[in-house]
Amino acid sequence: MAHSLLITGGAGFIGTNFVYHWINKYPQDRIVVLDALTYAGSKDNLSTLEQNKKFTFIHDNICDQKLVEHILTAHQIDRIVHFAAESHVDRSITGPDAFIETNIIGTYTLLKAALNIWTQNNILDTALFHHVSTDEVYGSLSPTDPAFSETNAYAPNSPYSASKASSDHLVRAFHHTYGLRVTTSNCSNNYGPYQFPEKLIPLALTNALHGKPIPIYGDGKNIRDWLYVDDHCRGIELVMTRGRIGETYNIGGENEMTNIDLINHLCTIMDELFARDSALKQRFPHCPASQGTSIRSLITYVEDRAGHDRRYAIDPTKCKQELGYAPSETFETAFHKTLEWYLTNEAWWTTKKK
Ligand code: NAD
Repeated sequence: MAHSLLITGGAGFIGTNFVYHWINKYPQDRIVVLDALTYAGSKDNLSTLEQNKKFTFIHDNICDQKLVEHILTAHQIDRIVHFAAESHVDRSITGPDAFIETNIIGTYTLLKAALNIWTQNNILDTALFHHVSTDEVYGSLSPTDPAFSETNAYAPNSPYSASKASSDHLVRAFHHTYGLRVTTSNCSNNYGPYQFPEKLIPLALTNALHGKPIPIYGDGKNIRDWLYVDDHCRGIELVMTRGRIGETYNIGGENEMTNIDLINHLCTIMDELFARDSALKQRFPHCPASQGTSIRSLITYVEDRAGHDRRYAIDPTKCKQELGYAPSETFETAFHKTLEWYLTNEAWWTTKKK
């Protein structure tokens, strides 16, 4: 059966990758992207779909309930995949208001609209609201703690993670109170094509190409579990198509690395690439690897982020056992794909860097 999906935040990093993933896998489905095009969103990401009759782009805000209700009705939406969010922890520290507005009020608005329209249209027992969330809601782990499972208590430490935790609770409550069919996924740190160059991997990669410092917070020993974005998209698809209604699934890469190990690894891969490819040396003359020096020389330790969580790690057992989930990429293979994408799309990220 063909579905009509509303994908919020579909012009952002993971949303864009998910739109392409879904259209390739389910070409019979209709897709409507609703995106406010904040600094993090780019309509151009989806320009190759402009001629696709099954694709519609709407530049607007998820906080507008009347508009969302109109979209749900006009496009006969029976699947909402909710990515839209303010997503950068540093920005949530300096300006939390937008995080409260989009992540909490925006999610609440979508839930109300879905409940109203799906009840009116008699599809409450078949329609699905999938909420995309983060492992940051669980707080911080010590080096010896077991990885986060779905039953961990929430303990968010930043305005970003607190706003996402709040949205997760609202999604759960709409299921238990009103019978809205929901699923939620909480994922670890993603990387890959279309990621805004303020996040660690694209920031380091693009700074390296131009010979700019690669900033590392604190002692560089904070640990994250890194997952290639397409593996996250596959995980979301599995939760939506095979997951139990009302359940939460943790999606992770079982790939824990300290920030400094990650960056050292990235520098080694890039040094080796520059050593093999003399055209890169001509294209990026300011990169240390073009001048016979390792890119590691750019690593610069900076003052730690306030309230910086020490370690996140995801236990993906539930997703593996119930849904047959397994990441298909290693850091090695996926970082090469990512690097290739940033090298091919220099114009995309150059316009986004300050
Ligand atoms: P992003 O910042 O790259 O994209 C967010 C998108 O939402 C942008 O296109 C933006 O324009 C849009 N948006 C923001 N406010 C909006 C509003 N009020 N109305 C409509 N659109 C709005 O974020 P991302 O990294 O792609 O993350 C997507 C989702 O995945 C978020 O919910 C985030 O919490 C979650 N997540 C991200 C990661 C990660 O590593 N990036 C990991 C786990 C979970």
